[in-house]
Amino acid sequence: MLSRETFLEIDLSAYQHNIRFFTKKLFPTKVMAVVKSNAYGHGAVEISQAAIEAGVDMLAVAFLEEAIELRSEGINVPILIFNYFNPRYASEALKNNLTITIYSKQQLNEIIRYVPHGLKVHLNLDTGMRRLGPSVEEAYELAENILKAGYELEGVYTHFAVADETEERFTIAQITKYRHFIEKLKKAGVNIKMLHVANSAGSLRFNYPVFNYARIGVASYGLQPSEEFLIDDLIPVLSWKSAISYVKKIKKGDSISYGRTFIAPRDMIVATVPVGYGDGYSRGLSNKGEVLISGKRCKIVGRVCMDQFVVDVSNLKQKPKMGDEVVLIGKQGEDHITTEEIARLLDTINYEITCAITSRVPRIYLRRENSP
Ligand SMILES: *Cc1c(COP(=O)(O)O)cnc(C)c1O
Repeated sequence: MLSRETFLEIDLSAYQHNIRFFTKKLFPTKVMAVVKSNAYGHGAVEISQAAIEAGVDMLAVAFLEEAIELRSEGINVPILIFNYFNPRYASEALKNNLTITIYSKQQLNEIIRYVPHGLKVHLNLDTGMRRLGPSVEEAYELAENILKAGYELEGVYTHFAVADETEERFTIAQITKYRHFIEKLKKAGVNIKMLHVANSAGSLRFNYPVFNYARIGVASYGLQPSEEFLIDDLIPVLSWKSAISYVKKIKKGDSISYGRTFIAPRDMIVATVPVGYGDGYSRGLSNKGEVLISGKRCKIVGRVCMDQFVVDVSNLKQKPKMGDEVVLIGKQGEDHITTEEIARLLDTINYEITCAITSRVPRIYLRRENSP
């Protein structure tokens, strides 16, 4: 049921277009589709299925539960878990045929206590992110211990800290550290099947054929991976639509919404939209954000509430009415509100905007007959 006519439109054909863009561009490096955090808000199960249909043969998530959800929906390609789980749940990883990340000696030792052998492992090497993973110096012993345990050390990866910024030296230093470590393993007779270093931004700037996978998240959703350069080939996957719940005239001097932060400077016509921060539409957009109605931008007046907010529709040629379409993110007529634009208003990144959209907003999946 869509009683309040508010939903996300998820264009799976656009997603597949973006995946194919990377597949072609990065060849022979392959795409590992990153679908953590409910596929950046887009819906992990549907996005994963679309990725596999577009030729992707490996997925990645942050947490164990995310991977188990995909397995329970019948997704059977390899899935890499990037992040922490309590070692007591290691048997779940084995049972569900999941690939785990090892990043410390303590973590490995505890996991071995629960699952003595048989796990498939990628080692996350810290080359400068200082988040998870051993330094290059510590990593060698950790790799030995992984092998001693009889685990399959299938992959070694690292993560870039500034791949989205124009400065290149730090990233190149990260790659150099990584390659030295791989060389050291090789000399000891340890050949690693899967080498991957790049995220979306990194893959477009630092791609070498020796890396056989790139971990593509944000850009696969048609979101720009950097504020420093624009990738024209990407098509945004998500649109956010709603409908007007109420239209009214207000008088000069009237205030709107909680806190009376907006006082009408003149007589106005305003419309109410049934979306709020309970849906993940940030309260930070109060008196700042814009939406599209009849193809025109209408500014938010007053504070965004949990379930609704008010916009100024005084300048629309035709007076809008209850039920008229409102676009919060996406195209209407000639205009387009991007996720990037909203992120800028909120002083954050596009990732956070789509991840924040709550489960109260239904996702509707579109497949165009003729994919772009
Ligand atoms: C989230 C994540 C990615 C994907 O990064 P994007 O910038 O969204 O492409 C890649 N690798 C790791 C380890 C991650 O946590």
